[in-house]
Amino acid sequence: MLDYSIPSETQMLLDTVRRFVAQEVQPLEAETETLGHVPPEALQRVRKQAQDLGLFAMNMPEDTGGGGLSHVDMCLVDEELGKTSDALIRRIFGQVYPMLLACKGAQREKYLLPTVRGEKICAMAITEPGAGSDAAAISTTATLDGDHWVLNGRKHFISDGDIADYVIVMAVHDKEKRARGGISLFLVDKGTPGFEVTSVQPMMGHRGYGHAELVFESCRIPADSVMGEVGEGFKLIMSSVSGIRLAHIGARAVGMGQRVLELMRHHANDRKQFGQPIGDFQMVQQMIADSATELFATRMMVLNTAWELDQGIDCRDKVSMVKLYASEMLGRVADRGIQVFGGMGFTKELPLERIYRDCRVTRIYDGTSEIHRMLIARSVMKRGLHI
Ligand SMILES: Cc1cc2nc3c(=O)[nH]c(=O)nc-3n(C[C@H](O)[C@H](O)[C@H](O)COP(=O)(O)OP(=O)(O)OC[C@H]3O[C@@H](n4cnc5c(N)ncnc54)[C@H](O)[C@@H]3O)c2cc1C
Repeated sequence: MLDYSIPSETQMLLDTVRRFVAQEVQPLEAETETLGHVPPEALQRVRKQAQDLGLFAMNMPEDTGGGGLSHVDMCLVDEELGKTSDALIRRIFGQVYPMLLACKGAQREKYLLPTVRGEKICAMAITEPGAGSDAAAISTTATLDGDHWVLNGRKHFISDGDIADYVIVMAVHDKEKRARGGISLFLVDKGTPGFEVTSVQPMMGHRGYGHAELVFESCRIPADSVMGEVGEGFKLIMSSVSGIRLAHIGARAVGMGQRVLELMRHHANDRKQFGQPIGDFQMVQQMIADSATELFATRMMVLNTAWELDQGIDCRDKVSMVKLYASEMLGRVADRGIQVFGGMGFTKELPLERIYRDCRVTRIYDGTSEIHRMLIARSVMKRGLHI
């Protein structure tokens, strides 16, 4: 029999995260949205609280100082984190990419461990003006020159690129091989000559969170700045994106959708038109019923896939299905949320219009919906459906 019960230790952690989100993070949403940045003192305070509560780097193994959570537990935690603004969560916790585990020797002390402790902020630079979905087509080059690599190229849309202490940069050093051994990941420190943050790119949503354009011009970095093995860059990224897609997009979409549904539920009960609560009207009920059903389906998809990841099962096709379905589901739920509130839904008095804008990008980054549909179709055509 399948056991869906949550162990008491995990439940305690979830209660802590839920309280932290409701009491410390949600109150910062409106001001962050108005200012366009998280108030610095509040950010410092909340980061410290999160560290003290042991909520940092929960996805990383315990021997690195992380929380050592399974994928299932991480998704349950991310569901709670999804109940506030993604921009705030990202600014508070930074991005602790699992691929940092490929750091070796001195790189562990310099990059991995301080990032897990929340002392250093990391950004991941893959996308370029000429290469997005087709990441293997990047034109940023790395050329070996004696005991240094020399980087040349331009990256854009890089989350946290404006404040990162270091950037993991994907560059090509063998244009024939490209994804098959010709691309590596390079660790580049802020302030390295030849590396510049040229602009912060204003976005439709995620106010309070920076996305930057980075330029590398004859940027010389030591030969041992390669993460993992030379030529393994593409493999490294592909092997660690599943957990991120599942937790940060799938599970957070479930959390964010639940928050919207709660708002809808209360409003449908309280708001009266034509002498009765609008929740009595079948068309309003349909919006609530469809949202609840889709949220339930997404949650089951997320947890089932997380369990498979924990068992070491290759479930990349399912991760694509979750990423695709969760991001599109959230768009529909956010849209219905605004509709149920009528004019109030369109105002800035409620978080709904922000959620509506913020969630739009989940269909774009970490692989667009079209790319994931392509991957799912290819997998099904080759192996059939394994669910
Ligand atoms: C807010 C934000 C944060 C981001 N953060 C980061 C980051 O931290 N690091 C990083 O490296 N990148 C980051 N990105 C970049 C993001 O990963 C890319 O935007 C995404 O991969 C899509 O690439 P693109 O924008 O170049 O679109 P394109 O690849 O040009 O796609 C344009 C359209 O064509 C479609 N298309 C492309 N190829 C196919 C195909 N084969 N079949 C069908 N349709 C196709 C796409 O689905 C899309 O609809 C971020 C982007 C945003 C908006």
